[in-house]
Amino acid sequence: VEDKQCPPDVELLGRSSWTLLHSIAASYPANPSPIQQEDIKTFVSIFSRIYPCWFCADDFQAYIKKNEVQVKSQEAFGKWMCEAHNEVNRKLGKKEFDCNLWQQRWKDGWKGDN
Ligand code: FAD
Repeated sequence: VEDKQCPPDVELLGRSSWTLLHSIAASYPANPSPIQQEDIKTFVSIFSRIYPCWFCADDFQAYIKKNEVQVKSQEAFGKWMCEAHNEVNRKLGKKEFDCNLWQQRWKDGWKGDN
């Protein structure tokens, strides 16, 4: 089956990774403590260096340098992640996602069809 490809290709790795990243945003606190804010910054930074698609990782690192990770609230972090994902969508010629809908897609229950 498609989700058992070994090793996973850039698409499967990407879909799985965005699921993890947006789900982490969906469970990030509304009012994170200083330690929680540090943890999420550290996570994103390490993730961007070990992501096992090297050209993807290089571009993601460059994006983070220009667009500092926003960690003050769930809303801020979720939006930041959505915009980072949209940057890749643009690069690949995919449709941009409406970031006002990220909580509906990844947290509260999706009503769309993609
Ligand atoms: P995906 O883009 O994987 O999205 C999965 C689902 O997320 C969508 O079906 C939609 O419901 C939802 N979604 C879409 N956009 C957003 C958004 N902005 N915010 C919230 N939810 C959204 N691939 C490359 O070929 N080149 C690269 O350089 C590259 N860089 C990547 C960098 C990172 C950090 C990651 C995690 C992935 C990268 N990928 C890259 C993979 C690429 O982004 C896709 O995951 C892959 O092409 C599969 O796309 P997909 O159409 O299945 O949907």
